[in-house]
Amino acid sequence: MNILVLGAGVIGVTTAYELVRDGHEVTVIERNDGPAQETSFGNAGLIAPGHAFAWASPKVPMILLRSLFRNDQAFRLRLKADLEFWKWTARFIGQCTRGRAHENSLRKHRLCAYSQQRLHEVVASNAVEYDQITDGLLYLFRSQQTLDRGVEHMQLLVEDGQQRDVLDRNQVVALDPAYAASKDRIAGAVYCPTDESGDSHLFTVNLARACAERGVKFEYGTTIERFDISANKIRSVQTDRGAFTADTIVLALGPYSAELVRPLGIRLSIYPVKGYSVTMPSDQRHTAPRLGAVDEDNLVAYVRLGQRLRVTATAEFAGYDMTHRPQDFITMLKAVRNLLPEGGDYDTLDYWSCLRPMTPHGTPFFGPTEYPNLFVNTGHGHMGWTMACGSARITADLIAGRNPDIDLTGLRYKN
Ligand SMILES: Cc1cc2nc3c(=O)[nH]c(=O)nc-3n(C[C@H](O)[C@H](O)[C@H](O)COP(=O)(O)OP(=O)(O)OC[C@H]3O[C@@H](n4cnc5c(N)ncnc54)[C@H](O)[C@@H]3O)c2cc1C
Repeated sequence: MNILVLGAGVIGVTTAYELVRDGHEVTVIERNDGPAQETSFGNAGLIAPGHAFAWASPKVPMILLRSLFRNDQAFRLRLKADLEFWKWTARFIGQCTRGRAHENSLRKHRLCAYSQQRLHEVVASNAVEYDQITDGLLYLFRSQQTLDRGVEHMQLLVEDGQQRDVLDRNQVVALDPAYAASKDRIAGAVYCPTDESGDSHLFTVNLARACAERGVKFEYGTTIERFDISANKIRSVQTDRGAFTADTIVLALGPYSAELVRPLGIRLSIYPVKGYSVTMPSDQRHTAPRLGAVDEDNLVAYVRLGQRLRVTATAEFAGYDMTHRPQDFITMLKAVRNLLPEGGDYDTLDYWSCLRPMTPHGTPFFGPTEYPNLFVNTGHGHMGWTMACGSARITADLIAGRNPDIDLTGLRYKN
């Protein structure tokens, strides 16, 4: 089959990889001049089934409300006269019950765990390098009270098969000596030994190279503008470099997926949620953390990527605005510096921000749409790097008419 994949983020490229492995002729269309230049570029790098909790939970509506009145580090809400934002928010609030939060977290966990397994298979078959660290992740808590709550919260995923150990501060230092000087600032951690980290940009660039060697064509510098329809099928994809036709099309445009198919009557509830990340040199002169971590009390994630330390935080509802200012990073840098005073070169900072393609329930959409030759693999929110390889295999299986390896209840665009 001749297949067009729209978007060369981590989702589009992993999808292209699985499709070419299945024997299809694959072309990827991307507006940038290379893969993973947008959301998949500067994310936190965590491959974290142990953090697969749905954002929508009973306490979140109050957090969002509070963020209207103060410049919260973790959540920032900018009220806008944007109908799509209000529709999305109403659906998101609808997912904020205890029952929904549990159900959505377990679906996420299932997909994340499957994806991690697929990632290992992709890496083993292609020797893809991506500054990976496979010794686990630390979820750090500043006080005994928050640690106890974190351990209790984690129980849901533990019952679903997630491995975890609870560490006191001395055990944290034994595992990661980078905290030796700051151990009094933490009470302990939940350690997930099977979680991992790595650079999703590097992974995607290297996998795109492997795809090209297998015959995938990449049409970079090509902006998709609209679709032409006939007889209830997508006849062509119109771009600023002409029309592309194919038997099947896969939509993987991250935060831009919903708006491009809205004129076709396809309603994908995906809204952009902005995040910030800052990357600094971290080499033998520094005391970099051995393992990626989340400072849970401040909701700041950080990870060592080769000779760099990356710090990320914040969920901001500000539409498609991608601007950032140095002051947006002050609080997150303060939190990390408090734990890792020598962790990197805090005077050489590379700032970045991008948009998470969030769905109200926190899981992506898979499968065919109202147009049988248009499939979606999009809406991976804050965990698209973790979910990429499994989502790609699921999409290839659905296109081939095979049953995917995991139960897709609640994950299909059309149920
Ligand atoms: C601050 C931050 C931290 C994160 N941390 C983590 C983490 O630790 N672990 C994790 O698993 N996930 C994390 N994520 C989430 C993860 O980065 C995303 O879920 C994932 O990158 C989404 O990939 P994607 O391919 O769907 O989107 P993208 O990477 O945005 O790819 C979509 C592609 O479509 C292209 N495109 C869009 N419109 C058009 C058009 N009209 N024509 C042509 N091309 C177009 C874009 O240029 C882009 O390349 C984080 C996200 C952020 C913002």
